[in-house]
Amino acid sequence: MKIGIIGSGVSAMSVARMLNHKHQVTLFEQENHIGGIASTKNLDGVAYHLVGGHCFNSKNQAVLDFVFNNILAKDQWHLVQRDAKIAFKNHTISYPIEFAVQEIAQFDEQLAVNIIEDFISADNQSCDNLAQWFVEKFGKTLAEEYLIPYNQKIWHQDPKKMSPSWVEGKLPTPNKKDFIKNLLHPQQDTMPHAYFYYPNSNDQNTFLTALSAGLDVNLETKITSIVKQGNQWLLNNEYTFDHIISTMPLNKLPFVIQGTPSAIKAQAEKLKYNQVSNMLWESRDLGGRTWTYYPDKDTIFHRHIHIGNFFIPKKNFTITESIGSKSYDEMLEAGQKIDYLSKPVDYHQSDYAYVVYDNNHQSATTDIKDYLTSIGLDTLGRFGQWEYFNMDICIENAMRIAEKLVTTQRTP
Ligand SMILES: Cc1cc2nc3c(=O)[nH]c(=O)nc-3n(C[C@H](O)[C@H](O)[C@H](O)COP(=O)(O)OP(=O)(O)OC[C@H]3O[C@@H](n4cnc5c(N)ncnc54)[C@H](O)[C@@H]3O)c2cc1C
Repeated sequence: MKIGIIGSGVSAMSVARMLNHKHQVTLFEQENHIGGIASTKNLDGVAYHLVGGHCFNSKNQAVLDFVFNNILAKDQWHLVQRDAKIAFKNHTISYPIEFAVQEIAQFDEQLAVNIIEDFISADNQSCDNLAQWFVEKFGKTLAEEYLIPYNQKIWHQDPKKMSPSWVEGKLPTPNKKDFIKNLLHPQQDTMPHAYFYYPNSNDQNTFLTALSAGLDVNLETKITSIVKQGNQWLLNNEYTFDHIISTMPLNKLPFVIQGTPSAIKAQAEKLKYNQVSNMLWESRDLGGRTWTYYPDKDTIFHRHIHIGNFFIPKKNFTITESIGSKSYDEMLEAGQKIDYLSKPVDYHQSDYAYVVYDNNHQSATTDIKDYLTSIGLDTLGRFGQWEYFNMDICIENAMRIAEKLVTTQRTP
């Protein structure tokens, strides 16, 4: 079968690698480089993650096997232990915050008491918005002092107007027993990404380049038209395929496919997403700290990735992230107020970065995906499926599509 894949990010290249031994696979990428959101720019040996720092791990052994056995051997990666902090009320405390109550007690005992009291009496009821979900799972004080302000920042939305559907499974919630045990004796960090892999080359692009090996990628080829003609697909009036997999954003795809009903286009127009602005800085030595969260309103940043601590040997570099479109000057001014940032090195503004789970998310994505299924087009990836997926989940979803298509026979 001839398969056309739109995009060359982790999703597109993963599914292509899973299929290209069996089918004739061609990828189309609008940019002049592969890798999509995960790609980096190497600045004198420092990998600048243009859309924010990335670390790789998976709970799914099949995903790890795919990466380590087929793409980049395990000995080409090193393990980094997560050491995340939170800048909280002018203090630096450990992440996750629910296990840092003793640290909070050192500067505000009453706040720590309120956190404990509310966490233990949280009733875990079902809830229909994100703000309520935080209160139900973590108690009122932690929700109001940390989780709601941080999420307000990262989503640029009032968590009361957001669906909690993405958060289950994505944000680990401790049970009351673990919370209490941790008050008595600090527990071992067993959350996802407690450890993660980073390439020994100190640049994530090594993984992306390995993923692209043997693939036929047409760079600088934006797909602007998709036409179904009988059992065949015509892309840009030029390329013919038996099957199409799209990883382009779901809010754009319906407008590119000829004949999409206006009701589906109307649903696509409802989908919301956030951009992210980033600045790479030389920073001072922060020990092994991997990243810092900033929930407070007094800074535009929501997170700093201390990317130099992903490298071996470590280097003192930090990427500051801010949701939305922020100018160089805004990022510089905000960064100059942070004591460990010493010199700006580079700056970038992304387009697609975070899917927003507002109240339209579920009905709009369901309608669009049902339509795509009805015409036989597969959509895949963080913006292809319009879900808050990390690289490992993109690879997992690529496996599902590949499993379906490897058993499909080539057209004579
Ligand atoms: C700030 C941030 C931090 C993150 N951190 C992590 C992390 O630590 N760990 C982790 O595992 N994941 C992380 N992620 C998620 C990870 O980046 C994504 O899951 C993954 O990169 C998505 O890959 P994708 O192929 O689905 O999409 P994309 O990378 O968006 O790829 C889609 C590709 O399609 C191309 N395209 C779009 N339209 C067209 C068109 N019309 N024609 C041709 N080409 C087109 C785009 O140019 C792009 O290259 C993070 C994401 C963000 C935003």
